[in-house]
Amino acid sequence: MSTNVHSNTTGHIENQINLVIEPYLHIFGDRVYNPITNRATFAKDRGYKELRDIVEKNKPINSLPQEIKSLLINEEWIITESNDEELSKRFFLKYVSLEAHTVCNQACYFCPVSIDPREDFFMSLEQYENIVSQLSEYKDSIEAVFMINYNEPTLDKNFIDQVRILKQYELVPAINTNGTGLTPSRTDAIMDMGGIGYLSINLSTMDRDMYKKDRQGDHIKVVMKNLDYAKDKEIAEAMDVVVLGKGDETHKNDFKEISEYFSNSYFNVKYAEIMDRAGYLNVGHKPSTPRSNLCGCENIGSRPLQHIHINPKSECFICCEDYENNYVIGDLNKQTVKEVLSGPEIQKIRRWSYGIEEAPDNFICKKCVFAIPEKESFKQASFFRRVARNVLNIKSLGF
Ligand code: SF4
Repeated sequence: MSTNVHSNTTGHIENQINLVIEPYLHIFGDRVYNPITNRATFAKDRGYKELRDIVEKNKPINSLPQEIKSLLINEEWIITESNDEELSKRFFLKYVSLEAHTVCNQACYFCPVSIDPREDFFMSLEQYENIVSQLSEYKDSIEAVFMINYNEPTLDKNFIDQVRILKQYELVPAINTNGTGLTPSRTDAIMDMGGIGYLSINLSTMDRDMYKKDRQGDHIKVVMKNLDYAKDKEIAEAMDVVVLGKGDETHKNDFKEISEYFSNSYFNVKYAEIMDRAGYLNVGHKPSTPRSNLCGCENIGSRPLQHIHINPKSECFICCEDYENNYVIGDLNKQTVKEVLSGPEIQKIRRWSYGIEEAPDNFICKKCVFAIPEKESFKQASFFRRVARNVLNIKSLGF
């Protein structure tokens, strides 16, 4: 806390606390969002206009009417000044990616696995439970635990046990799968456990030849058999089929065909366009120029402030776009989840990705479509937020 000491007119010494605008705000055309408190404010809300005036027109905080100032302080839009290190220790854990193995049975053209498959590695069930038990400390704020980064979760012989462990610790399992291993018996096992929070099937076409070409796997028959069994069962609170593609006519036709196929089922069919994985791939959306002034991340909320990504070796890294895990922020073999979430590595990443400290030129966020550009294009940021929302449409994504 930064305190200035002043002498007032009666000669008494009084302390004046320096107030500053929260440095991690997401400023959009229609709202301001605070990823540390998970609170958004809109034009209809008291204090919204004044908050924007301070942020955008550099109005001094002390020019605010006392009542509005108190409101903005209470809601933590305005905070007590502190050093950058202290402020970057904060987080609001909403999402976890807990990847228990490295294996995938496909090599989709829109996924880094297609050009650089990883060596097989499986996390033990004992370690899985150890990590889940630590994560459960945050169960009140965690909305979902995704069982994937670049693997196919159903390939793990422990897959159903992992779902069971998550539920046992009152966390919400979220499964993204290509559907090959979502067999009727596994669907039944999940139903017997009372279901999961989110199920997303990655299905880009129902045409056998195209499917095989796109994914290097002739799996459409088994996938459709599994989906035909699952589609009339409420396995998850939210069930999506995500049709990924290049945004061309073929993509639109596939989306139409798949939408019709699942029209009377529990699945919602979502359209999503591919992106280039922060420069890793030569296909998909990418920023037109490298981001020069970073202002945060909007990929299903803020990756640096609201997520933790854990690989099968129990290392934690910046986010799912970091396929090679170049930005490791901790190691759960040596540290606790709590230590990683406020450790020096993630603190630095937060300051870099929010432009509080200048990041190196080759920093991953500078190449990523999900980096919030400095006031440059609210329209573009909203577009990618919509893409993210379509891909992972959990009921309360909070943005
Ligand atoms: S690389 Fe992209 S998704 Fe990852 S933290 Fe940076 S902006 Fe967010």
